[in-house]
Amino acid sequence: MHPFTYHAATAVEDAVRQHSQRPAAQYIGGGTNLLDLMKEDVERPAHLIGLGKLPLAAIEAGPDGGLRLGALATNADTAWHPEVQRRYPLLSQAILAGASPQLRNMATNGGNLMQRTRCYYFYDTATPCNKREPGSGCSAIGGYNRIHAILGHSPQCIATHPSDMCVGLAALGATVRVSGPQGERAIPFRDFHRLPGDAPHIDNTLRPGELITALDLPNEDFSQHFTYLKLRDRSSYAFALVSVAAALQLDGDTIRAARLALGGVAHKPWRDEEAEAMLQGQPATPATFRRVAAAVVQGAHGFEHNTFKIELAKRAIVRALRQATAMSQPLNPNVFLNSNP
Ligand code: SF4
Repeated sequence: MHPFTYHAATAVEDAVRQHSQRPAAQYIGGGTNLLDLMKEDVERPAHLIGLGKLPLAAIEAGPDGGLRLGALATNADTAWHPEVQRRYPLLSQAILAGASPQLRNMATNGGNLMQRTRCYYFYDTATPCNKREPGSGCSAIGGYNRIHAILGHSPQCIATHPSDMCVGLAALGATVRVSGPQGERAIPFRDFHRLPGDAPHIDNTLRPGELITALDLPNEDFSQHFTYLKLRDRSSYAFALVSVAAALQLDGDTIRAARLALGGVAHKPWRDEEAEAMLQGQPATPATFRRVAAAVVQGAHGFEHNTFKIELAKRAIVRALRQATAMSQPLNPNVFLNSNP
């Protein structure tokens, strides 16, 4: 690990000022990903700005009747918060599908958005990787790519975003609140993470020095019919091969409104608003779900070891929408890979 200096920020303004004074600085919250990256020599910040003392851990009423999640609230406190469980149970389920209890106790909401891909080659500094070292090449294309993207990838990078929480936030249409040298602004969740394009080293649309301060959940009720379905190689502490966040509002058997997002398939949480529009006004039947699932993966393209994900994603979407309709999903969000759709 390379030497670095440390400053415990006393206020948001102090943190932002520190960052702007030291270009090689990074913010650190729970540190559950950044410290690993530093130990592996993937990240080399010269200066860390500790966020632990900032008053950003509250979960409270948000604008327009929604709920505001502090950026420094832990994933565990968020998942188990009574208002999150009552009004946004899809988010609670998505969070609890991720990581381990120990990690969820340390990891913060802001840090969850900032975590980096788990592409094997990104962590292996002996191999080329455009995300770690722009212009060096992509070892996953032509390498072992079982966990990689099937949607939205580029010839420069086929990595996936690892978060479960972010798939729930994408489906629910959250807003990311940030503070930076130019002041405060709000970023719609769908615009926060990037597809790789020609610049896979840039994961998100934050401007230099901007700090996530909160996540706003909209005042919409998707608490009656929802599921977070996560398919992975083992039943705990593994990243998703494919995950689906699905939520419906139903009038009898007819879908009044739908939310649908996928994880494990792209460089960003993959919300599909066209699929949501296709579901609206349709009967909540397997035939409808199969038609929509086929449309979601229409443009998918796999590589040598991950083409199976296209069919897996299709089946997972159908299963998730059926579970959301019937609310028959198990309490434990883990579902084994060999389950039938
Ligand atoms: Fe690096 Fe992306 Fe290629 Fe993985 S997929 S080796 S992160 S460029």
